[in-house]
Amino acid sequence: MGVRIGVLTSGGDAPGMNAAVRAVVRSGIVAGAEVFGIFEGWQGAVDGGDFIRPLSWDDVSGINSQGGTVIGTARCAAFRTVEGRRTAVAHLVRHGIDRLVVIGGDGSLTGTDALRAEWPEHLSALREVGTITGAQAEQHARLVIAGVVGSIDNDMVGTDMTIGTDSALHRITEAIDAIASTAASHQRSFIVEVMGRHCGYLALMSAIAGGADYVLIPENPPEERWHEHMAGVLRASREAGRRSSIVVVAEGAADRDGNPITAEDVRRIFADEMGEDARVTILGHVQRGGTPSAYDRWMASMLGHAAVDEVLRGDREPQVVGVRANRPHLMPLMDAVAATRDVAGLIAEGNYEEAMAARGHSFRQMYKAFRRLSEARAREADPSASPRRIGVMHVGGLAPGMNPAAKAVIRLGVDRGHTMVGIQGGFPGLIAGDLRTMTWGDVEGWSSAGGAYLGTQRAIPGEEDLYALARSIETHRLDGIIIIGGFQSYRALTMLHAERKRFPSLGIPMVVLPASIDNNLPGVQMAVGADTALNVAVEAVDRVKLSAAATQRAFVIEVMGRRCGFLALATGVAAGAERVYLQEDGLTIARLKEDVDAMVAAFASGQDRWLAIRNEEASAFYTTDLLTRMFEAEGRGAFSVRGLVLGHVQQGGTPSPFDRINGVRLASQVMDWMTGQLAAGEATHTFATPDGMRSVRDLDDLVDWDVRRPKEQWWMVLRPVLEALGSRPTA
Ligand code: ADP
Repeated sequence: MGVRIGVLTSGGDAPGMNAAVRAVVRSGIVAGAEVFGIFEGWQGAVDGGDFIRPLSWDDVSGINSQGGTVIGTARCAAFRTVEGRRTAVAHLVRHGIDRLVVIGGDGSLTGTDALRAEWPEHLSALREVGTITGAQAEQHARLVIAGVVGSIDNDMVGTDMTIGTDSALHRITEAIDAIASTAASHQRSFIVEVMGRHCGYLALMSAIAGGADYVLIPENPPEERWHEHMAGVLRASREAGRRSSIVVVAEGAADRDGNPITAEDVRRIFADEMGEDARVTILGHVQRGGTPSAYDRWMASMLGHAAVDEVLRGDREPQVVGVRANRPHLMPLMDAVAATRDVAGLIAEGNYEEAMAARGHSFRQMYKAFRRLSEARAREADPSASPRRIGVMHVGGLAPGMNPAAKAVIRLGVDRGHTMVGIQGGFPGLIAGDLRTMTWGDVEGWSSAGGAYLGTQRAIPGEEDLYALARSIETHRLDGIIIIGGFQSYRALTMLHAERKRFPSLGIPMVVLPASIDNNLPGVQMAVGADTALNVAVEAVDRVKLSAAATQRAFVIEVMGRRCGFLALATGVAAGAERVYLQEDGLTIARLKEDVDAMVAAFASGQDRWLAIRNEEASAFYTTDLLTRMFEAEGRGAFSVRGLVLGHVQQGGTPSPFDRINGVRLASQVMDWMTGQLAAGEATHTFATPDGMRSVRDLDDLVDWDVRRPKEQWWMVLRPVLEALGSRPTA
């Protein structure tokens, strides 16, 4: 008998768990192991029988797009007892399973580790009573485990995200968008309660994404007399022109004395302090449900793949496979669980500072950014802060999320006392003098808006335009420029920097905030807009796959990205494609021949779908149309092939929660930097990254200008994942 891996989902379900299960099953099979599903969480291990059964390649096909978990989950009281765990051991050993990937929350991981620690004792006891044989006990002397965190709360310490959180944010943000539109129509206020007993992640991030006015989270209870503060913030934003207010409350919110703050409490404050009849919406289980977001699919696939590696090597203490900087990040399982449980303890003790610290740097940073943004108002210019005139514009292709980023930049700038100047239509607009002052109220409603109200233009100035450009900067007395844009912005910045000696008015601080659906920008893993485009592409592929129900069909689907394969590869992993064609790899007839052979073999062995994602510039010769026809010819009638170019829908989405949050985070950094430059009388040219601004002079090291992309592309970590999950072994 070869190596057998068990996979189970346990505790609360979370969208994206299926992608992890699929990745475990397929990576296991590709590595030569057999993978068994343990159905209904630990209950299935305790009950045995049909609850433990092999999962084949096809058993997990098409499950990425489904919410919940197809292998079921449960909370199992029996597993909390030694006897229950002993029974589970007997069932696992009889099936020859001594490696487990467990996808669940901290409870499930704790239980798994208990099982691992007791395993040898259980073996001897079971052997003594004859439940298992001596040979079985020797063959499976130890249990190797790996944990993958599935939890919509994002409450595990040590990992950037947990599976399901991003999907839950999608659900909440959709709900807040819907509520915001009716709220504004009736000039009515809403209180939205979201999940999170000990963790305010969902509340804080959805408040930012939804453009809410106030947020209450467990880790950082509001100060004494907080209701006066809240009422003050809400009143001020009404006076500034907002037609309604939205307050987001985490279900575990409490005051500094530990008394719960409920949505109902907040409603009463609206009534008492503002004389307003606010409405309460408790989102409840809709937050857990629905289609997994693109991120939850590709991230969970990557983690499931890494977890199989981990249980197959099995040479160290048990690990949790988490994610940091978009790569798998392993940490000792019990340390992670202990640190996570500590946070609840810290909150209970009133040690809020440490509770916030445990959530990590970027959580605190986002909390500050939210406070600043929600309390931002038009202020009297403070002479010591050197208020100035700052231009804001977009350059390059449209990226969903440009509007929320521009809104944050403008409001934060106004709050600093600056005069914010909207430049309509990029560089051509600047040259033509199409500029206007933007007020706090002008950007109301931009949080959820796709498109770019300031307009965007790909054109950047040529040599011959520099004089007019420099004149316009002078005429409009711009003291700084913020460009929210894509690759062309970096080119333009480089050029303006080079020309600053000849045209002194270019010697003002300038910064690029990265926004591009192509995700081909230096210094950032995710440019604003890329996540939305990815979600649009994945959703479209889901539909295309459904359109072919009950037929044998291959698809060649072309996605955008210019010469950067991010969109193609991430769509391929998230949507479950067999092949991805990237410009980075090039396309040859030899490779196509291999793929055609694999495709024909897959259909012959009963597969009914084959999906290839092609980057729009993968090859100048092997076009989407040509691939489609070539595959169809080689199918010889055994299956049909359809080609599809997704096109501009990818630029057209409502910005995803992540793109909005990412835009706000970068905007807040950019405005801090700009204000600092002006106060210090400096005038550098930089581009924004999550770790701060970098000088334009670094660009040559980072960028391959000919192919218009960064020299290093982090997302290539997904390539082995796609290769494993898309390569059905032939009989
Ligand atoms: P989550 O995994 O989402 O945190 P729970 O805490 O409810 O959810 O745990 C899910 C299941 O994991 C429990 O029903 C139980 O079967 C098992 N489990 C949790 N904690 C333990 C423990 N301390 N010992 C043994 N099993 C546990």
